Amino acid sequence: MILAGLMYGYFKLQNKDRRIKDRLFQAANWDALTRVKNYAAYDREIGYQFQHSVAHHRDLAMIMFDIDHFKHINDTYGHLAGDEVLKGIASAVSNVLKKDGETLTLYRTGGEEFNVILPGYKVEQAQAVAQDVFNAVAQLSVKYNENVIHVTLSIGVSSLAVKDRNPLDFYKRVDANLYHSKKNGRMQITVD
Ligand code: GH3
Ligand code: MG
Ligand code: MG
Repeated sequence: MILAGLMYGYFKLQNKDRRIKDRLFQAANWDALTRVKNYAAYDREIGYQFQHSVAHHRDLAMIMFDIDHFKHINDTYGHLAGDEVLKGIASAVSNVLKKDGETLTLYRTGGEEFNVILPGYKVEQAQAVAQDVFNAVAQLSVKYNENVIHVTLSIGVSSLAVKDRNPLDFYKRVDANLYHSKKNGRMQITVD
């Protein structure tokens, strides 16, 4: 009887411990607003994928996108409307990625900036995914109160190069391509 009671208490504690750990893991790896993975998750995954791809001579590509004139959306419709746009984009892009491949994950790496890591993808394949992402967001209508909000993306795409010594070298090239899309007039994809 005493043993049964002790065991019950023990398992109950263990269960609570596990639930707390699950919740901490959730908070540490997922973005609370958009429900996609966060920067910490991205950072860990790109480190792993970089090592793995170099070691096994495997293709690896990355897509990075940033919402065009997002500050204007906040200024015009309010910050909460901006939040709805972020949620709408995260959801639409997640659906596109589900269709394009099970290995693809969306990360919110900054305020209005997102990344997709594409293990095993060549740059042309990643470009096709980027085009799907671009189209999905261009077709998206986010309703907020009486407003219907439309946004576009600037995108950068690249793949792992022999000269990349670490994940940051790779990231910088994707970022430079995104920057090129912005400087070149936004609403476009830059690939190299
Ligand atoms: P660009 O086309 O050059 O990217 O211009 P932009 O206005 O999108 O870029 P800028 O960097 O000037 O502004 C980004 C804005 O994103 C500013 C910031 O307030 C907003 N932002 C960042 N995180 C959030 C968020 O979680 N919710 C909302 N509503 N806005 C956010
Ligand atoms: Mg930005
Ligand atoms: Mg922006």
